[in-house]
Amino acid sequence: MIPFFIQKLFFYTWWKGKMKMCGCIFCKMAAHEMPANIFYEDDQCMVFEDINPQAPVHLLVIPKKHITSLNDAEEEDCNLLGHLLGVVARVAKEKKIDGSGYRTVINTNAEAGQTVFHLHIHVLGGRRLGWPPG
Ligand code: AMP
Ligand code: ZN
Repeated sequence: MIPFFIQKLFFYTWWKGKMKMCGCIFCKMAAHEMPANIFYEDDQCMVFEDINPQAPVHLLVIPKKHITSLNDAEEEDCNLLGHLLGVVARVAKEKKIDGSGYRTVINTNAEAGQTVFHLHIHVLGGRRLGWPPG
C-alpha cells in the first residue's frame, strides 16, 4: 500500500504536468517557457506586466503553483495566498503607488470576467480608479 502523502505527491506532479500540457499560459510564464516582462520573482510567485494594461501600473501577481481560480485554493494554500498579498504590497511600494493608492483585483469565473484560468492578482495604480467597477 502506497502511503497517502506519496499518492498526493504523485497526483500533484501529474496535475502540474497536465496543466502544462493543457497549455496554461501562466504556468508556462512561471516556468520561463514563455516570455514575460518580469518585475519580481521568488520561489513561490512571479510578478509581470499585464500585456493589455488598464492603468499606468498594471502588474499581475501569480503563484507558480497552478491554482485555477480562488475557488480552487485549498487549506494548504493559505500561506501561499498570504505571501502573494505581501508581494502585492512590496511591488506597490517599489512602483511608488503605495502612497497615492492602488487596487488589487482577483476576477473569479465568467461574470467577474476571468479569462485566464490560473489564479492571479491584478495590481492597478498610477491613475484615479473609478468605483463601483464596471
Ligand atoms: P483576467 O481577465 O482577470 O483573467 O485577467 C487576465 C489578464 O491576463 C488580462 O488582463 C490580460 O491582459 C492578461 N494577459 C493575458 N495574456 C498575457 C500575457 N501573455 N502576458 C501578460 N498578461 C497577459
Ligand atoms: Zn497554470
